[in-house]
Amino acid sequence: MKIKFLGGAEEVGRLAIKMEEKNTKVMIDYGVIPEKPPLYPMPPEQVDGLFLTHSHLDHAGSLPIYFHSKEARFYATTMTANSIRPLLKDSLKIAALEGYPEVFNSTDVDTLYESFIACDYGEPIEEGDFTVTPYSAGHIPGSTMWQFNNSKSVLVTGDLYTDRTNLLNGAVPVKSDILVIESTYAGKNHENRRQVINRLKQRVKEVVDSGGKVIFPTFAVGRTQELAMILSEMGLNIGVDGMGNAITDIYMHTPGFLRSFKDFKSAIHKTHRIRGRRMRENALENDVMITTSGMMDGGPVLGYVDALKDDEKSAIFLSGYQVEGTNGRSLVENGTIKINGATVKPSMQHEFFDLSAHAGHDSLVNFIRGVDPQTVILCHGEKREQLIADLSEYEVILPMNGEEFTV
Ligand SMILES: [Zn+2]
Ligand SMILES: [Zn+2]
Repeated sequence: MKIKFLGGAEEVGRLAIKMEEKNTKVMIDYGVIPEKPPLYPMPPEQVDGLFLTHSHLDHAGSLPIYFHSKEARFYATTMTANSIRPLLKDSLKIAALEGYPEVFNSTDVDTLYESFIACDYGEPIEEGDFTVTPYSAGHIPGSTMWQFNNSKSVLVTGDLYTDRTNLLNGAVPVKSDILVIESTYAGKNHENRRQVINRLKQRVKEVVDSGGKVIFPTFAVGRTQELAMILSEMGLNIGVDGMGNAITDIYMHTPGFLRSFKDFKSAIHKTHRIRGRRMRENALENDVMITTSGMMDGGPVLGYVDALKDDEKSAIFLSGYQVEGTNGRSLVENGTIKINGATVKPSMQHEFFDLSAHAGHDSLVNFIRGVDPQTVILCHGEKREQLIADLSEYEVILPMNGEEFTV
């Protein structure tokens, strides 16, 4: 089997993996690095089938390019397919606002969505010489590991999480000959999730009891809904604003992908969804606001922080990875952010809670041992080599973008 990364091998972002055996070529993911300007994978190559692991833009953000110039059958779970349409349309809006050249258009996004072939976990499909089976990756609802069976079996994880969260059960290893696995957290373990959640609730309570408000700058997909579930048990007034509401609607109307749809629904019904300017003006009557963008580079979060910036009793609680150059990273490192071009130093408290949906180092190693492959291919990481010492019983490959190799 021949494998070539068109992106995402030695970096977190723009994942694009081409695999070829006998007469069949497939592509797994075709993402973007949403920097300024965005970084795309190498140009699309003709394949028979496109398989998407999940809706995050570092995996899906360049997919419509395929539907502009090429044709391929496109496989995804219904949850993933439903989620990518608003996210891709939003990315087009942002690109237009920032003045970047358009590499695909709104019609391509619609074509992509309309052509998807729905796949269910555990149910194999045939694509040329491959029999392909999707399994839950535990990362966000709808996220998928794809197992390709031909003369050998290859498991491609996409982003992976192995612990239980409010939304999902963790991913379970699937025995395979070859494993292509993400390695975002190579060399780093997470603090115990239960402890993080307890500390987070405690801190929210302290801030609200002291008369302050808590702002959660939050990613739209997965994290918004998980925070709503975590906080809904506290008896507080919780507002949710931004793109997260659109994704929540999709979760509400795409059953079969959540650990407990009943718990999810009852948590969401306890939150106040902020829609439109009128509601936004009064939104800070809530104790807590969960709102995009997750790295504070745009979206309603900046309005809320601007309104509260002089209030020492209020707090900004970050819960996701903050990319270098973003407002979120600047807040963590210097205590400053930019609002409408002006540098602001909020008097608000700020704190980081690690609710990552990526497996930490030890979980990655345990997962690899569970798959028990002959060959491990590490990708989607900047410190992949830190896993090698723990994988001495396997052949380990650290591919680079653009090089083709045979396994
Ligand atoms: Zn992801
Ligand atoms: Zn990713």
